[in-house]
Amino acid sequence: KYESYPYERMQKIREQNIVPSLRTYYKKPLLLHQGHMQWLFDHEGRRYLDLFAGIVTVSVGHCHPKVTMATQKQLARLWHTTNIYMYPAIHEYAEKLTSLFPDPLKVVYLTNSGSEANDLAMFMARLHTHNFDIICLRGGYHGGSPYTLGLTSLTPYKHGVANGFGCTTTMLPDVFRGPWGGSHCRDSPVQTVRKCSCTEGACLAKDQYIEQFKDTLNTSVPKTVAGFIAEPMQGVNGAVQYPRNFLKEAYQLIRERGGLCISDEVQTGFGRTGSHFWGFQTHGVVPDIVTLAKGIGNGFPMAAVVTTKEIASSLAQNLHFNTFGGNPLACAVGAAVLDAIEEDGLQKNSEDVGTYMLLELAKLRDKFEIVGDVRGKGLMIGVEMVTDKDSRRPLPAEEINQIWEDCKDMGVLIGRGGLYSQTFRIKPPMCITKRDVDFAVEVFHTALQRHVERAAAK
Ligand code: PMP
Repeated sequence: KYESYPYERMQKIREQNIVPSLRTYYKKPLLLHQGHMQWLFDHEGRRYLDLFAGIVTVSVGHCHPKVTMATQKQLARLWHTTNIYMYPAIHEYAEKLTSLFPDPLKVVYLTNSGSEANDLAMFMARLHTHNFDIICLRGGYHGGSPYTLGLTSLTPYKHGVANGFGCTTTMLPDVFRGPWGGSHCRDSPVQTVRKCSCTEGACLAKDQYIEQFKDTLNTSVPKTVAGFIAEPMQGVNGAVQYPRNFLKEAYQLIRERGGLCISDEVQTGFGRTGSHFWGFQTHGVVPDIVTLAKGIGNGFPMAAVVTTKEIASSLAQNLHFNTFGGNPLACAVGAAVLDAIEEDGLQKNSEDVGTYMLLELAKLRDKFEIVGDVRGKGLMIGVEMVTDKDSRRPLPAEEINQIWEDCKDMGVLIGRGGLYSQTFRIKPPMCITKRDVDFAVEVFHTALQRHVERAAAK
């Protein structure tokens, strides 16, 4: 039995009392009542398969019983003290979390959001290297705070105010949309339809992107830099993957110039990419600083910066304080999330179910001209919509919107991303099953078929 909310009243409050910059999805936004694992239920009791997981945040499942129980237990014991006292929860969690990282990434600073974590990562890189400039990739999203907005390189999120001095954006190594293609260059079960001149072991596309990277370092920044930040696979930009070995070589170039390498794992961490627990591992690199948020708390507001003892000590020369970072409640949630990932076998599930879904979606790409690219790894998937595969022009917004609305009406919630909002983003709670995938792909197929029929009737 579901409570009934007056939809119109909620809508009115939204219009009158909530900032308009917080935009809602869909012509008629959902009014949610409840969540359970990979499912969401609206105010009328309609069930939706949640393929976007609160923007990749619900890692182990909505209201996962284990996480809920751990939260309730901690709620009744102690919520908050700040870090001026010792409390077992933070020590246990810090030990557990850092045990999942390779040496020398063994110390953690807990924060409350991804933007805050990346702010701190930039700050640490600058303090430690005594350099200022940070390189980032076009299409990256690293936060909405004034400091991190300098790194976020997606026009829809940019505002015409001073932000992030010392941030230089360089070319995005995108094997689908970029100039050099890449038909077998990315770490995904599905490759692009774009031809390239690469051979196994010699990736020309990667070489060209590295040349561009060097060009930026040689022309646009001082001889030494503070660091380089990248997501192992771009999230907001629609699961954009770089050619193999790009990150490895970029890291080397940055280190030669005295900089630190920051991996933004806000979306790619916690087993989401399937083959590895952290996205950086899929590139065979070890960063100097790693930032975590979203999936770390399965929806609870918490985040973290993991780094080396040496780098962290640069911050210890003075006080650096965060009231809520690492509060007992967040630590109890974080520990329960790690337990759930392990006990439910969610990294393996990401790999198995994600690969299955990618291959099923690739069949739709081969059937429908407007499905330009299917990419990703594990349960971090992008489906880029185009007018046709040759031009790769983004499918007009009204056409994408209709497909998206149709999927919602058939019970499947999908995310959107990319500079032109042209990419469907599929990043469900990692507990999703192959049966759910069959349902979702069937729904997507129907929505695409309807698009074809509409186009033919015009
Ligand atoms: N980094 C990445 C990769 C993100 O996707 C986001 C959020 N979309 C952030 C950082 C910022 O996180 P938050 O919204 O928690 O500040």
